[in-house]
Amino acid sequence: MEKRISPSVPIQAAKPLKKIMADHFYELDRAVKVGAPKVAWCTSVGPAELLQSFGFLVYYPENHGAMLGATRMAMDMIPVANAIGYSPDICSYLTSDIGSFLKQETPLKKAYNIDAVPKPDVLVYNTNQCRDVKDWFSWYGRHFNVPAIGIHTHREIGRVEKHHIDDIATQMKGLIPTLEEVSGRKFDIDRLRESVRLSRECTDLWKACLDRAAVISAPWNFFDATIHMGPAVVMRGRQEAVDYYQILLKELDERVAAGISSVPNEKHRLYWDGMPVWGKLRSMAELFTGLAACVVASTYCNSWIFTAFDPAEPFDSMARAYTELFIVRDEPYKEAYIKKCHEFFKFEGIIFHDAKTCPNNSNNRYGMPQRLTEKLGIPCLSINGDLNDLRCFSEEQTKTNIEAFIEQLED
Ligand code: SF4
Repeated sequence: MEKRISPSVPIQAAKPLKKIMADHFYELDRAVKVGAPKVAWCTSVGPAELLQSFGFLVYYPENHGAMLGATRMAMDMIPVANAIGYSPDICSYLTSDIGSFLKQETPLKKAYNIDAVPKPDVLVYNTNQCRDVKDWFSWYGRHFNVPAIGIHTHREIGRVEKHHIDDIATQMKGLIPTLEEVSGRKFDIDRLRESVRLSRECTDLWKACLDRAAVISAPWNFFDATIHMGPAVVMRGRQEAVDYYQILLKELDERVAAGISSVPNEKHRLYWDGMPVWGKLRSMAELFTGLAACVVASTYCNSWIFTAFDPAEPFDSMARAYTELFIVRDEPYKEAYIKKCHEFFKFEGIIFHDAKTCPNNSNNRYGMPQRLTEKLGIPCLSINGDLNDLRCFSEEQTKTNIEAFIEQLED
């Protein structure tokens, strides 16, 4: 007998999620107004733990970029950055964020009644994901006349070797003098260990949450996870994130026990590779739900799983965690990774999102879909779109392609 009790029971953890994200921005806004604590901007897979160890509040422009995409404000902001020479072909997080700053408009106003993003005292990037983040942070560094410093990570790595770790750990230590000067505090290894410990706890819980989608039928999906990953991005290294994922994990377990699935009568299971189309999250989620297809796992949401974190070896383990990422690796590694996901999540097809302005997260461009179809015996579909620039996304075309893909699975 069908065990499912309700087709689309909302995830209750959305309420504490809303609060934790609001508190994050209020805390930053307050800090800027009273001048303490100092604010560091960090890339989403940058050395946030090191910054926290100096007492900085950490702000993540990519999160703001995603908000600009989700609210579709990005479309008005991108041309403003284009006008000062930042091409429409480069990262649309960068162009929408810088455009929003120049236009003095932010989604924080409507969401939290906050007028502007928090002014940085220092900007810290890691090029593990792309070069765009360095250009992005450097623009603000020049604008605010504050240091924009960073780590230059090796790219297209197969095996992560000791020399990679040694280099990145050394570069991280090289940030310390500037961070000491800006924060006015001496480096404290115990504070760093504590932050790494909390990040590890957060990451383990986040992984456990994502893993729950291996259950047939999955209690949540990729579109839910893109929203609930907020604390793993902006609050890792802090107790609040750990507390939040304990709540979410408990609820997901309850959903599994009660037979609550995110897609009613789940019939097909899919994997999503690449960035979300932020401005179309809801309609995409509805499209898949209508087709009884659940996107059970994704490269994107897995990107905030850092199993290497170890407070006993904070620098080496941070260097490893931020170098082991999918986006940093070569094609054979990525294919082996997706193969493992296939075994665990048991999906029958893969959707590759070819995001026009993010080649770094578009993995369909060098023959990977064809190789995976051959290796895994499952079909792949590539869709054209973008994370923020909706001029690159045809909803009708995508819908037609996805419907045809699901029909192919049914055949
Ligand atoms: S990885 Fe892609 S989306 Fe992220 S900052 Fe770089 S170019 Fe932009």
